[in-house]
Amino acid sequence: MEALTIRDVELTGKNVLMRVDFNVPLDKKTNQVTDDTRIRAALPTIQYAMEKGGRVILMSHLGRPKGGPDPKYSLLPVVSALSELLGKPVQFSNVFVGEESEKKIRQLQNGEVLLLENTRFDPGEEKNDKNLSQQLASYGDLLINDAFGTAHRAHASNVGVADFLPSYSGFLMEKEIQFLGKVVEQPDHPYVAILGGAKVSDKIGVIETLMNKADKLLIGGAMMFTFWRALGYETGNSLVEEDKIALAKELLEKAKERSVEILLPIDALIAEKMESGQPVRTATRESGVPGGWMGLDIGEKSIALFKEALKEAKTVIWNGPMGVFEIPEFEKGTHAIALALTELKEATTVVGGGDSAAAMAKFGLENKVTHVSTGGGASLEMLEGKEMPGVASISVKKNRKIIVAGNWKMYKTPEEAGQFVRRLLQVLPKKTKPVEVVLCPPYVDLYTVRDILVGTDLAIGAQNVYPVNEGAFTGEISPRMLADSGVRYVIIGHSERRAIFKETNAFINEKLKSVLACHLTPIFCVGETLYERENGQTLTVLNTQVAEGLIDLSASEALKVVIAYEPVWAIGTGKVATPQQAQEACFWIREKLRALYGAEVAAQISILYGGSIKPDNFASLMARADVDGGLVGGASLKESFADLVNTALMYL
Ligand code: ADP
Ligand code: MG
Repeated sequence: MEALTIRDVELTGKNVLMRVDFNVPLDKKTNQVTDDTRIRAALPTIQYAMEKGGRVILMSHLGRPKGGPDPKYSLLPVVSALSELLGKPVQFSNVFVGEESEKKIRQLQNGEVLLLENTRFDPGEEKNDKNLSQQLASYGDLLINDAFGTAHRAHASNVGVADFLPSYSGFLMEKEIQFLGKVVEQPDHPYVAILGGAKVSDKIGVIETLMNKADKLLIGGAMMFTFWRALGYETGNSLVEEDKIALAKELLEKAKERSVEILLPIDALIAEKMESGQPVRTATRESGVPGGWMGLDIGEKSIALFKEALKEAKTVIWNGPMGVFEIPEFEKGTHAIALALTELKEATTVVGGGDSAAAMAKFGLENKVTHVSTGGGASLEMLEGKEMPGVASISVKKNRKIIVAGNWKMYKTPEEAGQFVRRLLQVLPKKTKPVEVVLCPPYVDLYTVRDILVGTDLAIGAQNVYPVNEGAFTGEISPRMLADSGVRYVIIGHSERRAIFKETNAFINEKLKSVLACHLTPIFCVGETLYERENGQTLTVLNTQVAEGLIDLSASEALKVVIAYEPVWAIGTGKVATPQQAQEACFWIREKLRALYGAEVAAQISILYGGSIKPDNFASLMARADVDGGLVGGASLKESFADLVNTALMYL
């Protein structure tokens, strides 16, 4: 599913809460920023938001303060660095959350930027604390997440806050997901992975994942010597992880079983000390590294071997330098491989890892490969195929109709209905499309409401129907009558009708068919009781209700149905399903639809959540991938129903 990006949302006049990664190195004495790479990487997103007239509120962590303010880790030094790069003054709040930040946010003008103090000064940040997340959410109208470097962590400022605000990727995040995502999910073959760096133990996860994906694994860096030992070669004083030799053997065995080729260096540059100005020699595998010497780079022959292996590659991922590139004598291997990557014009070439990125910058080659990831730990975890909470929390493009329907139940006389709808129209945005807003008043109010809604985007729904077009059914209303009255939606199978009026799945199925035959859109409700949930029956109940309700409906008919998941225990009780519970149930319903009608149909059917929806919880529900809107009870009787519509409009 595609993540929403900053381009998908209107920023003008909005409080744009933006999570960036300003975790930059500071000079210990002067406290100046010594490397502004990460600040520069966030500039396009910040500038874009400023130009669009957003009020930009930046959040970042810096270093590892111990859950409280610590001047050593203040973001204040970033203010001057950022102001200079932007060519505009940047304001600063000495607290992350609290009175000062709130005051400065209130005074912020369109196009201005405010940086909040280190997010990790609040102990709630790393705990992903709900109260902190909610407080942060109150600072912004939306979240732009551009902090890929933090994407492997579920913290309040990148993940928790996205439970309460729609979250969009910034340009940097988008680029990282695009390129690393491609390498992880759909690499073109031949796919060559180059791994190096200091420790095998850091990279076990990546090696194991890549063994299942890549065609060739080239191993350099200090890591190679643990592998040399696994093969029985001498390594002298080289950096070897003794306790990982057995694992290295195992990995070599595994590679044989799979069709992946592991290529190890056949020679190495060695010296007696890891310092510049030492005599340097070449050792082959067979000769081994003599006692007192250590391997610090791959040798000429290995460079040639690796270059040959890279020749036909269509995808290359590189993580970890080939040698101690920080020392000029031992940078050759890393430099040669970097150059080899830049020569692969047809391939997607991606470099991940903090030191590897630093090496690319040192050689001035960072713009000559497809992508250099800015996230050290994050890019590693992504390559390991781990779930990235900071990526997963970004709202997804639903590509489905989003619906906010108000079920008035048995409230409001025609007179009251008329007054209310007139007021509602004044507070609703003029244009509510493409969000479909549906009002479902009692039958006797339908005409009044219909007449007021003429010329607006709003649609009318009924709360019930009898599944026959006419006949001796005293007290009932038919689908044809509804259609002829200007009604477009009909709520079917609401839990109150199931419970109080004893409606069965079979009867509900009849209603669905009769409504579809009259070209009305059913809002088909399903949901479990508290008893069923507590007894672990939720999935079974939903499956049965969906399957039996939809019996004999063709795929093209199913496409015209809107489903509403209403957990009975959350209706009128003030209890709201957590966003996770709502998402899980809506996901299950979609799975059932997939089983019944196939993935393509299932992906197009809107599934609403219903049950104690309020303006302050709706965003957290809408933020979930499978929740496409709300069937709103009590909150649809008040003008604040408009707030729900505004929230829904942010998820398009
Ligand atoms: P990345 O940050 O790109 O993931 P790592 O942190 O795993 O990379 O490793 C980088 C470090 O590995 C560099 O500081 C480099 O000097 C060191 N290194 C590379 N080869 C050797 C070697 N043969 N002996 C000791 N250290 C090495
Ligand atoms: Mg590193």
